[in-house]
Amino acid sequence: MRDKNYAINDNRNEFISKLELDHSVFKFPDQTHSKNVKIVNESNLYLDTDGVISTSPKFGLGILIADCLPIFLYNINTNHFGLIHSGWRGSANKITSVALNKMIEKGSNPEDIKAVIGPSIGKCCFEIGKEVSELFETQYMEPIVGSKFRLDLKDFLHKELISKGLIEKNLLIDPHCTFCEKNKFFSHRREGQTAGRMMAIMGWKNK
Ligand SMILES: [Zn+2]
Repeated sequence: MRDKNYAINDNRNEFISKLELDHSVFKFPDQTHSKNVKIVNESNLYLDTDGVISTSPKFGLGILIADCLPIFLYNINTNHFGLIHSGWRGSANKITSVALNKMIEKGSNPEDIKAVIGPSIGKCCFEIGKEVSELFETQYMEPIVGSKFRLDLKDFLHKELISKGLIEKNLLIDPHCTFCEKNKFFSHRREGQTAGRMMAIMGWKNK
């Protein structure tokens, strides 16, 4: 939500504390639109990383977003959970599959994983040029004037989750568009470099 800029550490800590969680156990990776996913531990340094997984209830996870897709993963049996930042680069490089493969390696059955795709830029507003369009199958794109297209990343990620064995009833895809809804969300595309950042977090309370 567009309340505070969560690129600022103090704002993050304040929000997490308000939820009666310990902000010091939350791990925020140094996001670079990569396809790198790390399983978190005591360290607070996750360079060049856009996906984090926790196999322990003692850690919390956080990512920053402003148009890119935040993907929340949670296994109801192992209690392992993950958080992914996926824009067009991460999506083209299948960062969500990288994360799911790591969870599967750690004992996850994909049928036990629930996933949520949070508010992010919708097909209505996600214009891409020819070069980016070549990274995606045509079924996710709609041509517009010039050699431009509109890309439906939510649909792309939805299909990827299903292809990895997740079950439709365990998926929730938020329909809100961060670009359209300017009173509600920050948008990097709409506001440029100076745009604020929203935050996605996952963690256990009292566990
Ligand atoms: Zn839109």
